[in-house]
Amino acid sequence: MSLLVLKFGGTSVGTPERIRNVAERALRLRGEGHSLVVVVSAMSGETDRLLGLAHELQPRAEGRELDVLLSTGEQVTIALLSMALEAYGCPARSYTGGQVRILTDSAHNKARIRSIDDSRIRGDLEAGRVVVVAGFQGISEEGAITTLGRGGSDTTAVALASALKADECRIYTDVDGVYTTDPRVVKRARRLERITFEEMLEMASLGSKVLQIRAVEFAGKYNVPLRVLSSFEEGPGTLITTEEGRVEQALVAGIAFNQNEAQLTIQGVPDQPGVAYRILGPVADANIEVDMIVQNVGADNTTDFTFTVHRNDYEKALGILERVSSELGARNVAGDTKIAKVSVVGVGMRSHAGIASRMFEALARESINIRMISTSEIKISVVVDEKYLELGVRTLHDAFELEQEPTGQSTDR
Ligand code: ASP
Ligand code: MG
Repeated sequence: MSLLVLKFGGTSVGTPERIRNVAERALRLRGEGHSLVVVVSAMSGETDRLLGLAHELQPRAEGRELDVLLSTGEQVTIALLSMALEAYGCPARSYTGGQVRILTDSAHNKARIRSIDDSRIRGDLEAGRVVVVAGFQGISEEGAITTLGRGGSDTTAVALASALKADECRIYTDVDGVYTTDPRVVKRARRLERITFEEMLEMASLGSKVLQIRAVEFAGKYNVPLRVLSSFEEGPGTLITTEEGRVEQALVAGIAFNQNEAQLTIQGVPDQPGVAYRILGPVADANIEVDMIVQNVGADNTTDFTFTVHRNDYEKALGILERVSSELGARNVAGDTKIAKVSVVGVGMRSHAGIASRMFEALARESINIRMISTSEIKISVVVDEKYLELGVRTLHDAFELEQEPTGQSTDR
């Protein structure tokens, strides 16, 4: 008999009717012989509503009391789901995070899970019950309620699956899987049967917000097979797994993009040791995260230095750069917020040359100018003018023939 951990997000439990649907789905799986642990989020909009209430009384509400408040959203849904199950005659028992000893550190509002005592859950499973656990929350060493950060129910599900050595952790959501790119941009985007943890992390951090990044990291680290699937339609979804599980020959898994960055350039800085540090040191001190960095080959003993930051940090970074510029005697500071980053992601590029040139050729054919390039083992990113974002993504999706199933791919189920 297999053990599955299922997780349903806020929209999937947004109304009593939907909660009943979740119960029915659980019943079907139970009928197929699976043991089930079900993790639920708060009803959609509830966490935001609670945050709003908190902010009315304390504009900077945070820490311990905020966690006491926010954790109530999930306590509502575990009870309702258990009632729905019992109304169908299915024995069920609900637990808050603290009750099943999801022990976390005491970093309120963004706590990390340290350990889980699974004995109580195992006892219930052995007694034939469906176990329903509140996502997004735990308890600290000191006994305080903690929460895991927005979207944290995914992490609860993965952590439980890992602790219980479940056969699979299934994340039911409002999309039916992970796509080769955003279907709103490319209509022919295809649902992937499988993707590796590493690829998923790149896709997720670049804007395909299907799963909480921390949950994917956790699943990769502890090798928990993770499946993303729709809570509204039947279908196999997308399995996120290790590279060994990869049967397909695709070089590229997908095209990710990010429209939240801005570019900053400092021109004509002296080409001397320590310059990069003198530019980026103050940026880091201001807690601004830098993404891509490019420094030109120096000419006339000066060089140009370009980097990207989150758009929200643009004004602040520009101010810092202007100050640094006069200290260094640089020629000029320039910036642009109308940029977009487009990335080709795939573990296949580790063992295959030519992906970059294929990418650049495709962009050239559409006369899309590349402003910056950066590469990692499984990703090539370019920065282009924002107005070329959609064209660029579509062009690359075509160039790597992502609308077609890669040859040699197995179909799950
Ligand atoms: N309810 C929490 C949130 O809205 C946690 C979750 O849904 O995963 O962020
Ligand atoms: Mg979510």
